[in-house]
Order: sequence, then structure tokens, then C-alpha cells
Amino acid sequence: MNYLLLQQQYKAESLFGRYITLKHIEPLLAKHPTTIVGHSVLGKPIYQLVLGSGKTKIFMWSQMHGNEGTTTKALFDLINFLHSDTKESEVLLNAFTFCLLPMLNPDGAELYTRENANLVDLNRDAQNLTQPESKVLRQVFEAFQPDYCYNLHDQRTIFGVADSGNPATVSFLAPAYNENRDINDVRTKAMSVIATMNDVLQQLIPNQVGRFDDSFNINCVGDTFQFLEVPTILFEAGHFPGDYEREETRKYIFTALLSGIQYLHENDVVDNKNDDYLKIPQNKVVFYDFVYKNVKINYDGKEKIINFAAQYKEVLNKEKVTFEARIAQIDHLESYFGHQVIDAQGEIYLDNLTNFPNIEQKADFYLGKNIKIVNGLIKN
Ligand SMILES: [Zn+2]
Repeated sequence: MNYLLLQQQYKAESLFGRYITLKHIEPLLAKHPTTIVGHSVLGKPIYQLVLGSGKTKIFMWSQMHGNEGTTTKALFDLINFLHSDTKESEVLLNAFTFCLLPMLNPDGAELYTRENANLVDLNRDAQNLTQPESKVLRQVFEAFQPDYCYNLHDQRTIFGVADSGNPATVSFLAPAYNENRDINDVRTKAMSVIATMNDVLQQLIPNQVGRFDDSFNINCVGDTFQFLEVPTILFEAGHFPGDYEREETRKYIFTALLSGIQYLHENDVVDNKNDDYLKIPQNKVVFYDFVYKNVKINYDGKEKIINFAAQYKEVLNKEKVTFEARIAQIDHLESYFGHQVIDAQGEIYLDNLTNFPNIEQKADFYLGKNIKIVNGLIKN
């Protein structure tokens, strides 16, 4: 299968960028039979979409964290493909039943927050189930009795693939089901699907796939579902160079979703690919959006050369997410990379405030007389 071509062909064109809310997905949902399975804290509907009639049941939910819409975009691309009336889609609809919750946290989506409207991180509420959204997820899980669970997220631009200097464009995890992080048959199944998706992605984005830390936390949904003996896979949509709208990453999430499903279709008994899974390099916090090197400052009357970093803050402004570069770190950057690196070559730092970069300050400054930096970037 040419996954990228399929994604292009079946892309849900009306979904774009980082701000994905109910308002964006409701017109798309209207084309399909959906059920409202519950409501958010603020009374917004949580939609369920069931596709196919096959034996193997896959449960997928996205935007449990409201500001993580990339996988929702990929999910709608996948829905379009599954509705394509092609031979390939028919085969999958006969083999699988897909239960999708394409926006578990509609309040957080609208507010562009990770948490729900009660400021609770739903991915820490899997045991206590204090929130209506957590209860819905659990009820659907219990009613559907899935064979596999796909827990769909976005991760920040700070993650790289170990120390390779490559961003973690896609990351996966087969969550642990106990403190010991033992590997049982359930976890092995999740690992095998991940290893397969990784093989496919390596052809498209070599060395840009990471494996998330598997510390056990039973309050996380993935850990709980794995503990309940359903193979569960965490997907994290991450940074692709220059792609802050996550339209590139969306293609790779679509590719991962479909290639994993394809693998399960072709392999009734999932083989043991634990070694391949464990060979995927670990995710590591190694990136800032901007690194400025060899910058001269005047400190206590002495000239000094420093490096510093800036990071975008995502700000919701009139139904659009904008990116505000703010200074995030000064020196101690030896083990960090920048998605963009600007070498000041000893030019002096100047701004309208203290002529010294301060944490949280907007990244608007001069490097010498000729280089003007606006919102992190060199302005010509
Ligand atoms: Zn998340």
C-alpha cells in the first residue's frame, strides 16, 4: 500500500492546523451514523462512530488532551479511506469493527487546553474516574470489549529520538501493566503492532520515530487498559521540521494507523517482535524551537559569550493558534538541539528592556546592529 498517496486521496480537507474543535468535526460526523455516548463537563456531546462488522475489534480515541488535534485529523482521513468503497477498504471493514471517539475532551479542544473544563488531566483519571469524560471512555471500553486500543495524542516539540538530533515526529509506547514493566502476551501484541508501524515509518521518516518511557502509572488510561489485558498502543504525533501546523505529521499518523491495521489483518496470530520494539530509540527531551549561539552580552560590566534558547508558546487567539517565541533557557545547552539554530558569531545582544535575555521574555531582540529577531526568527 502507498500510504502517503492514500492519505492525499482521502484527506479530510476541511481539517487543518492545530485548532480542532467540535465545530470542525461535526460537519464531517454528520455524514456518518454516530451515537452520542455522553457529555463533557460543559455539556458538549462526545460522539462515537462505529465502522465495519468484522471479528477483530479496535477501539480508538483521540483528543483526550484537548490541544492535541493531529491524530483527530488523521483519524478522519482514515474514516474517509474506510468509506472509500474500494476493495481494500471493504476487506478491512469485513475483518474489523472500529469504535472511534474522535474527540473525547471537546471542552479542552475548544479552550485549547490539555485538561478538561475542570482542569483535570483525563490521562491521570483512569482509576478514580472523577470526570464525565473519563467515565464515558471507560463505559465504551467495557461495552465494546476491544481486542486492541489506540490511545491517540500529540507531543511537544521538545522530544527528540535519543541523542540523534532528529525530532521524534512519531512516538509509540506499549504501556507497562505493572511496576516491574514485565512483558506478557498482552503487551507483546501491542509491541508487535508498534514494531510493524515503525518498519513502515522508517521508510518515510528514517530515524524520526521514538519510543516513550514505560514507567508504570495505573492512573494513565493506557496502563489501566493494558492491566485489564487489552493490548494498548500509545501514539504521539510530534514535530516534523518546519511543520508547526502538523500537516506532515498527520500523514505519518495516518500511515501508522493503517499499516498497523493492515498488519493485524494479515497476521491472525501476532508474532513476537519485542526485540524490534525495544530497538526503537527512546524519546528524550533534547529540543528547543530556537537556539542562539555565540551571543555577546555585557554582564556586570564584562563582555561574555553565551548561548540561549527560545520556545514557542501556543496561544489561542480568535479561534486560531498562534506561536509566540519566548526565551526559555540561558546556557546549559550542551545536550540540546534547536529546531532552528542561529549563530550570532559574537554579535552583541540588544533589546528594548535590559539588553540581557530573560526567561519568559518575548524573543524580540537584535544581534548587533544588523540582525533583527522578531518572534524568534531573523527578520529581513
Ligand atoms: Zn496527550
